[in-house]
Amino acid sequence: MPSFLFHNGRFLDPHSDELLEGMEVLVEGNRVKDVSDRPIQSSSAVRIDIGDRTLMPGLIDAHVHIFLSEVNLTALEDVPLTLLAARGIAALRDMLMRGFTTVRDVGGADHGIKTATETGIVDSPRLFIAGKAISQTGGHADFRHKTQGAFESPCSSAVSYTARLADGVPDVIRAVRDELRKGADHVKIMVSGGVASQSDPLESVQYRADEIEAACEEATRWGTYTAAHAYTAAAIMHAVGAGVRTVEHGNLIDVEAAALMADRGAFLVPTLVAYDSLRRRGRDYGLTDYSLAKNETVLDAGLRSLELARAAGVPIGFGSDLLGQLQNDQCREFLIRREAMSPQEIIRSATLVNARILRREGQLGELVPGAFADLLVVDGNPYEDVGLFADLGPCLSIIMKDGCFHRNSLSS
Ligand SMILES: [Zn+2]
Repeated sequence: MPSFLFHNGRFLDPHSDELLEGMEVLVEGNRVKDVSDRPIQSSSAVRIDIGDRTLMPGLIDAHVHIFLSEVNLTALEDVPLTLLAARGIAALRDMLMRGFTTVRDVGGADHGIKTATETGIVDSPRLFIAGKAISQTGGHADFRHKTQGAFESPCSSAVSYTARLADGVPDVIRAVRDELRKGADHVKIMVSGGVASQSDPLESVQYRADEIEAACEEATRWGTYTAAHAYTAAAIMHAVGAGVRTVEHGNLIDVEAAALMADRGAFLVPTLVAYDSLRRRGRDYGLTDYSLAKNETVLDAGLRSLELARAAGVPIGFGSDLLGQLQNDQCREFLIRREAMSPQEIIRSATLVNARILRREGQLGELVPGAFADLLVVDGNPYEDVGLFADLGPCLSIIMKDGCFHRNSLSS
């Protein structure tokens, strides 16, 4: 079992607001074996001097869609599944190279691609999947043109591979059970209008309370939870009141909705970079005027949502939600959040809070004995500059996932 002893650098424990000096970390196999402020003895470990750099846990992104490989989602109609998979593999590899050693896919990624990541066929972060996102007819994941009839498209196309429609309690129960049967780690439902969809007003509140309750109950009995796409305060109240555990986006949250989330222990997963990126680059990739207009509404409210959630004591996770060609903006989420959060809080979102969302405390998002050996060595101090995280990780000397180096420029 290969083992590595990291020494002589600074240590970023996301529980602490300061970097720690003089810490040593021993990795054995795919786990952290020991973390100590005293020299760790190991006769077999390869010693890695990290110099003046910072050792920290790998990052977690709690809102990605590796299979939504087009900004204009209706273009997925023309994407065969083989191309979808190939693009997904490339997206995963790039996320890992940015320092994300775990990602939570909230609609699209399936058991097949997850198996590929777990068996080492592809270089990838750890992947948690929702299977298909579940939407009501005419809801946020109903990608059909207005002229189109049946949702199911030919099996060689991506358009119906990432989402499914379910209406009414029995149908929602069947859809949730089916996604869980196919290996979903969590359930994703759409409970408000969205930016990329072409039929639904942003303010629409989607799914009846009994439908959401049914989805949440099925997920809970399976031992997991439900994540909901929601923008407005009304949709958030509706979803959290019916048992949703993580609110995705939440840009138009208000004081009352934030208070309910705090009371119920729900998490907010903001994805501010998605709107910033759509404004700057969406039109280049075919985003419609209808979507661009909706984007302006949620973009303007984004930072305020962080402030409201923070003030209410809602745990804030870290997401990006970038579609297709925009995914290389993933690390801009760190920069945008600086307006409303400290670097320590931002990094905590992308480590400890996201690990709680995944129910992997002590396993992911921190380097403690027994945790997975998912770690980064950063050239500089991320608590002073979250801009050290950038596309393809120019400031990352080491990227280790599951005890394996995916980059190591410090030792040969
Ligand atoms: Zn999303």
